[in-house]
Amino acid sequence: MIAVIIGPPGAGKSSQSELLKDREHVVWVYVGQLLRQQNNPDISRVMSRGDLVDDNLVNGLIAQELAKIDPAKVVVLDGFPRHTPQAAWLIDFAASSAHSLRVIIHLKISAEESLKRLRGRARADDTKESINQRLTDYQANIHPLIDYFSDHGIEVAQIDGERSVERVFADIDKLINHVHQS
Ligand code: ADP
Repeated sequence: MIAVIIGPPGAGKSSQSELLKDREHVVWVYVGQLLRQQNNPDISRVMSRGDLVDDNLVNGLIAQELAKIDPAKVVVLDGFPRHTPQAAWLIDFAASSAHSLRVIIHLKISAEESLKRLRGRARADDTKESINQRLTDYQANIHPLIDYFSDHGIEVAQIDGERSVERVFADIDKLINHVHQS
């Protein structure tokens, strides 16, 4: 099954995914990292601006990754979808694959908290302009994305990311286990 984690930059999607991947049944698919690993100057340029990489390219990479993973596993999809066209693709893809789309987690922090956390991070694309761009895109896209999922009968779990890493993890782990076992 697929468990999606979406949220603003700095929400803790990857920190939580790092913890989840220690579970035997979990495989982490980190879209930002997948894109960085392409070592493609055109992709790097888009990423350094904080813009979204082309949907067809991202969708293709995800399809390739999912094809390698045993559908009995829980795929934690970190940072995808970022907007409704990607959500539409994912719903269609999951419907025609053995990986079913079962969990969508919105890991929420405020814009102030996002800016504060990213100021303390040293990733190459964490410039002021890129952070602002990612935050602006997130704010523009998150409500349509949540509405899109609910229109398709998929509930989005809201998780407060402004608590301790352990508390956030306890909630996410419990939710995923509950759905995985049902
Ligand atoms: P963050 O969540 O802090 O923005 P990520 O590592 O998830 O960090 O993403 C880094 C960059 O990778 C994004 O700014 C964007 O350029 C690209 N990217 C990540 N996920 C997607 C996606 N689903 N669609 C398009 N581009 C993406």
